Amino acid sequence: MALRFYNTLTQQMEVFTPLSDNVVKMYTCGPTVYNYVHIGNLRAFTSQDILRRWLAARGYKLDHVMNITDVEDKIIRSAAAAHKSIFEYTVTYTQAFLEDTAILRLQKPERVVKATDHIQEMVAAVEKLGERGFTYKSDGSVYYRIANFPGYGKLSHNDFSGIRAGARVDVDEYDKADARDFVLWKAKKDDEPGWDSPLGTGRPGWHIECSVMSMKYLGETLDIHAGGVDLIFPHHENEIAQSEALTGKQFVRYWLHSEHLIVEGQKMSKSLGNFYTLRDLLKMGYAPEAVRYLLASVPYRKKLNFTFDGLKAAATSIDRLRNYKLRLDTGKFPEGSNEKMVERTVVANKAFEEALDDDLNTAGALGAAFEYIRDTNTAMDSREFLAGNVKGALDFLARFDAVFDVLNPSVASGGLSDAEVDALVAERTAAKKSKNFKRADEIRAELAGKGIILEDTKEGVRWKR
Ligand code: AMP
Ligand code: ZN
Repeated sequence: MALRFYNTLTQQMEVFTPLSDNVVKMYTCGPTVYNYVHIGNLRAFTSQDILRRWLAARGYKLDHVMNITDVEDKIIRSAAAAHKSIFEYTVTYTQAFLEDTAILRLQKPERVVKATDHIQEMVAAVEKLGERGFTYKSDGSVYYRIANFPGYGKLSHNDFSGIRAGARVDVDEYDKADARDFVLWKAKKDDEPGWDSPLGTGRPGWHIECSVMSMKYLGETLDIHAGGVDLIFPHHENEIAQSEALTGKQFVRYWLHSEHLIVEGQKMSKSLGNFYTLRDLLKMGYAPEAVRYLLASVPYRKKLNFTFDGLKAAATSIDRLRNYKLRLDTGKFPEGSNEKMVERTVVANKAFEEALDDDLNTAGALGAAFEYIRDTNTAMDSREFLAGNVKGALDFLARFDAVFDVLNPSVASGGLSDAEVDALVAERTAAKKSKNFKRADEIRAELAGKGIILEDTKEGVRWKR
């Protein structure tokens, strides 16, 4: 079966093919940099990382743009409260975001672009929308007249035809019940930041930046646009209205939206105060890989309920994966190759691929991997897994890790110095001599958990990272 995604626009599962050749033109809405991102935000970005990696595994080349929203209502309020310019204020959180995503092993998009670097282009887009009859001015601000765009509502599947013409909204965020003409350019108020332009001194509304930056770098029609479900309305609905009014062409072919991370039934969010940042969890001693595993383990269109038990279970699953790899790397297997095991590996690869092809069913892919691990471990115990089967299993793990990326321990997860490893190895050798095999096994497992592989040779113990 081919690679399929659920498209919010058509409300259907669709086979994915890019518009041109094998390059995927993809845009994702990045963070609003007014604070550290929480792990709810990071769930959305982790889903996008899994998407990127699976597209690459399927042979596609990525051209992925992500924006950084560095001018917006919340930023302006927070910067003012901190007595800083928005530039001074956002630079810290932009940096922190890039660090957090790197720690979580999220691949960096081909281009990460800032809203404030594209003000002139946004002004030009608003002027062009004006020439086409989609805007009007009121109190110095410029608004988008949604009644003039017949497709308004097609992404969020709402009928907005009855709404009052001319009713306006100035804030960046609002919900469906509040659907109104939205602001494209906000006249400068008091000591808010503002840019001089033919539209007057002001600043862009939130929505125009994504239309402008996506089309500037990717062209008028994108293959994929992704974000959290909370962005469907109004943000993405407004992006469509702006972009399609500008070009007369379809803006995005596949819209992918990830569900929320929730805590006790409620969306994790800054405003509810029920959030953890990645930094909080690392300080508590959790490894970044465990957070990554947890965020990736639930398919992106399902809600993910965050619990510490879930996080601990993620760490245990990673230990199992690493111990399995260690067994493959260092175990002594009888000569030959068992055809049954070869077939079992084919089945595992197929199940893994089919799960991810099915709208990135990560839970299914993990299930396929752990069933394979259980079956081959059993076969190793009964000496049916032979030396010639090792490579197939390692290749499967490599394919697995190209997507999940949890096998290598981060330094932050307890990377040991060479001297510390040597000391543990010496302790294990002493434990074995005194027939304390339990302690010897414990040490081996502890080292395995930190990505250190032991090999018992005639000359003594060798280890490698
Ligand atoms: P923001 O910085 O608020 O623009 O959000 C950045 C991304 O995080 C967006 O794609 C949001 O949809 C997403 N997001 C915000 N809260 C959550 C949550 N609790 N769970 C999952 N994604 C979220
Ligand atoms: Zn956006």
